[in-house]
Amino acid sequence: MPVGTQATIKGMTIEHVLATGAEMVLSNTYHLALRPGHEVVRKLGGLHGMMRWEGPILTDSGGFQIFSLGDLNKVTERAATFKSHFDGRVIVLTPEHSIEIQEALGSDIAMVLDHVVALPNTNEVITDALARSIRWAKRCLDAATRDDQARFAIVQGGLDETLRVQCARELATMDFEGFAVGGLSVGEPPPEMYRITAATTPELPVDKPRYLMGVGTPIDLLESIARGIDLFDCVMPTRNGRNAMAFTSHGNIKIRNAVHREDTRPLDAECPCLACKHSRGYLRHLFITDEMLGPILLTIHNLTYYQRLLAGARVAISEDRYEAFVIDYRFQQARSKKTADDSPDVL
Ligand SMILES: [Zn+2]
Repeated sequence: MPVGTQATIKGMTIEHVLATGAEMVLSNTYHLALRPGHEVVRKLGGLHGMMRWEGPILTDSGGFQIFSLGDLNKVTERAATFKSHFDGRVIVLTPEHSIEIQEALGSDIAMVLDHVVALPNTNEVITDALARSIRWAKRCLDAATRDDQARFAIVQGGLDETLRVQCARELATMDFEGFAVGGLSVGEPPPEMYRITAATTPELPVDKPRYLMGVGTPIDLLESIARGIDLFDCVMPTRNGRNAMAFTSHGNIKIRNAVHREDTRPLDAECPCLACKHSRGYLRHLFITDEMLGPILLTIHNLTYYQRLLAGARVAISEDRYEAFVIDYRFQQARSKKTADDSPDVL
């Protein structure tokens, strides 16, 4: 899922997003509840109406944004209390209110409000937050009133496999349409993330989607799919695109680098996107002159790259050659490292 925090994938029209191959997008409850306000979104036709996006939309619960952006004052059994990161307003968010907001936004999948804690942390803090997240998940289910909105639970438990298994088992007994693995990709090394994902997914129902939140690099996605994950969201393709970094099948390209000044080749000869109809030299020029088309084109390219990579993964799985697919990907990337684009920026 491309990330459309403010009900827009930055710099993209809906036609652009569709052309990348994306079928589903994510929007952030926390941001939209603050601006323009969820009742305003409802009046403007909900997220679908505002964005003109006809495919599925998933909204997060706000829990992670409170943890990462808000000035979190306290979490009690009833609610999370925090200060808005842009106007200092004190906001009290209960699990029930999070569902009410997401119902007003009109997303197809609502996430439960969870209690996110920083890692590493003491076992006591992690266990307490996990138990609260399970109780809050139940409250979210009880508060839901829309039968056209699915609800996903979020497995917490830090980097402790036993706690993750315990949390997953408890949530799996409840009536959720899907399950997320949360609280990862917050600075831990990738092997730790893979270990926790591998421990968690066997405890989740096989016939319901598993979603790894906030992940990740292309190889993180491929390794997590091997461990049973179906769905991802990440700002990496869009944010990196805006910052002049392109993902390609032959390694990453920093398009501002002087080496691309007179390069007539596209970013990726195999890529069908709009950016790849232009030369690297032209794309570099757009960034050097701060033209808005540069970030737009690289965002289009990176989203297309991610969608094509995962489309390839789906085909490989259906043909029972996924392991070879991942090995081949690693080989391609390692080989291109020899000609890696890590020359210093010369503007
Ligand atoms: Zn491209």
